[in-house]
Amino acid sequence: MKLLIADDSKVSRMMLQSITQEWGYDVVLAEDGEQAWQIMQQENPPALLLLDWEMPKRNGVEVCEQVIAQNPEHPPYVMLLTSRTSPNDIVEGLSRGANDYIAKPFDSDELKVRLQVGKRMIEIQNKLKDTLAEVTLLATNDSLTGIFNRRAVLEMIPREIKRVERLDQILCVGMCDIDHFKKINDTYGHLVGDEVIKEVTKRMQHALRDYDLIGRYGGEEFVIVTPIDQIDARVVYQRVCDNVSRTPFLIGEHVIDVTISCGVSVYSEDDNYDESLVIGRADKALYQAKEAGRNRVVQAESQHEAPVAIENL
Ligand code: GH3
Ligand code: MG
Ligand code: MG
Ligand code: MG
Repeated sequence: MKLLIADDSKVSRMMLQSITQEWGYDVVLAEDGEQAWQIMQQENPPALLLLDWEMPKRNGVEVCEQVIAQNPEHPPYVMLLTSRTSPNDIVEGLSRGANDYIAKPFDSDELKVRLQVGKRMIEIQNKLKDTLAEVTLLATNDSLTGIFNRRAVLEMIPREIKRVERLDQILCVGMCDIDHFKKINDTYGHLVGDEVIKEVTKRMQHALRDYDLIGRYGGEEFVIVTPIDQIDARVVYQRVCDNVSRTPFLIGEHVIDVTISCGVSVYSEDDNYDESLVIGRADKALYQAKEAGRNRVVQAESQHEAPVAIENL
């Protein structure tokens, strides 16, 4: 583990370096507070800091406050090394953010175990951070394909609607479903089926632009949300379909022809930010695409029936 030792006394620095290196730390040295601060600005800085309190340019407590303020979510573990040992000094050092302090002249056994405590704390903090990242990813992303899950993509649609309105664009929602996927599972097994789902995802993603959204709606169904400039939404989705069907899939020793069908609908003001309406129309169009022979795109008819004029009442 990287350990930053900052001390303006060369003798003290050298001694600390030699014993902590013996304990297995990867030591980085600073001669004053300014140098310590600069080291903390570099990529992958030390997470364990042993700072002398009295140093020129910036003292240890100032460096401690600044490095914590710089990264409050994931601060380094800071130990102050000081000849100031009055209760007032200790209170000041710890209340300004230090995790621990060691009195000078220090006892090497005590320094060793206190550094071990710091190391343990950092390891726990890192583990928590990784777990949190994993949980956050699982909450919004599908574990098989890595793309957004149904809930995440549905939550994004109202936001997308507002965004395209500001840009004076049109928002399209497409429901895409793998054709005869049950047969692929039945013929090659579910594991090959899973690989097909992953490859379909990749091919669809390649046909999309950075600002298009794609999510796994369920089983072998996907929802694709795209802002467009022209009324004919089919162009984008036809590209998605063609990208899937263009060349057979090579999964292990199997060569499999895969196609998808898409139903597309355009968001209308009358939908009033209710994503279920635009999805419902896309779903109906998908059904029509299946009925019409699959491997095709069907765009939903106009969003709402024009009101019938009532005359001569
Ligand atoms: P259609 O062209 O009408 O869409 O026919 P289909 O066979 O694709 O549709 P159907 O709804 O009959 O079958 C979908 C199958 O997808 C059934 C289900 O077992 C399978 N499936 C759903 N999720 C997964 C998955 O994550 N992995 C695998 N391998 N299969 C899945
Ligand atoms: Mg000093
Ligand atoms: Mg299907
Ligand atoms: Mg389906």
